[in-house]
Amino acid sequence: MVVGWHRDTWIEVDLTRIKKNIQNEQKRLPENTSIWAVVKANAYGHGIIEVAKAAKEAGATGFCVAILDEALALRENGFLDMPILVLGAVRKEDVALAAKFQISITLFDLNWLEDLVFDGNLNIHLKVDTGMGRLGVRSKEEVVKAIHQVKNDHRLSLEGIFTHFATADQKDMSYFNKQIQRFDEILQTLDKKPRYVHVANSADSLLHEHLECNVVRFGIAMYGLTPSTEIADILPFKLAPALSLYTKMVQVKKLKKGDHVSYGATYTAKNEEWIATLPIGYADGIIRHYSGFHVLINGIKAEIIGRVCMDQITIRLPYEFPVGTVVTIIGESSGVQVSADDIADHLNTINYEVICMLSERLKRIYQTSEQKDEFHPI
Ligand SMILES: *Cc1c(COP(=O)(O)O)cnc(C)c1O
Repeated sequence: MVVGWHRDTWIEVDLTRIKKNIQNEQKRLPENTSIWAVVKANAYGHGIIEVAKAAKEAGATGFCVAILDEALALRENGFLDMPILVLGAVRKEDVALAAKFQISITLFDLNWLEDLVFDGNLNIHLKVDTGMGRLGVRSKEEVVKAIHQVKNDHRLSLEGIFTHFATADQKDMSYFNKQIQRFDEILQTLDKKPRYVHVANSADSLLHEHLECNVVRFGIAMYGLTPSTEIADILPFKLAPALSLYTKMVQVKKLKKGDHVSYGATYTAKNEEWIATLPIGYADGIIRHYSGFHVLINGIKAEIIGRVCMDQITIRLPYEFPVGTVVTIIGESSGVQVSADDIADHLNTINYEVICMLSERLKRIYQTSEQKDEFHPI
């Protein structure tokens, strides 16, 4: 991947905020419960290695990822002792690799256990599908059988058991309660609980307590974003968003009434207007639906006009600005905010998607809150 180091478009990640979000959550958890930082998808676009370091410093004791490669990247970068759980499917042919690097895998299908070819020890978390309908074994019989099969293979250790909620980010708890009940029933069939029992994603860990569990899988809230807008007003503490996205004007010009902008010439100037071209586009994750949304210049909103291009967008200015003026796409500008939720609302999606879409081409700059004020006086 080629990163745009020589372009004035950049993501800033404030690692102090990530740490604060973790520490604020840790304070609320029962003493025996630890936080595993969910750093899949390049840490939701924030950068997996830097976020993992910050999370560890803040007290996270394990990691969750989606795919084996993400787990391997953590091991390669020095995270050697902490448990790493792959939440998604690991191919049978890769089990030796998982075992070699002590990466815990999710067991969700009994057939997976047949004819495994590897030496050493493999840690397994059994995933129970209590209503998400995605990965997991569903019945008590399957759970019993899975545990039996794991016990009978001396290479396998049942390190954990878990489930995942479909509606933890909603105020209506009826479906959530059904899932809890199913998981409790499953737990009761076990002679002995594995070392790690976990159900909570961010939404659940922020809103409910589960005394039978000892790990929470902390994702979106670690990055300072709400799991859903529905629960934003009942969160137990203020989340601090860690990611900002900035660019700088590369050209500023005046249009005459009737002039057009960008592909298709779909935008027409209604009057004499100042516009600016920004070096960021859909190849960076600013998809075409951003058109009509706004960016901030010194706290002033400026509309994204015309079609979004692969590498550039155009905005309408309230008046002339100098080339090189900083533009905020996500984050704060002179006390005014554009949040991932504001963008998600315009794009008809969720904040998770907005940040995960930000492509690897964008350079990511890491800092702490204390540095921020000096570094970047916007
Ligand atoms: C991604 C994921 C999480 C983290 O969810 P957040 O809502 O970001 O906290 C937890 N558990 C599973 C199984 C996941 O896939």
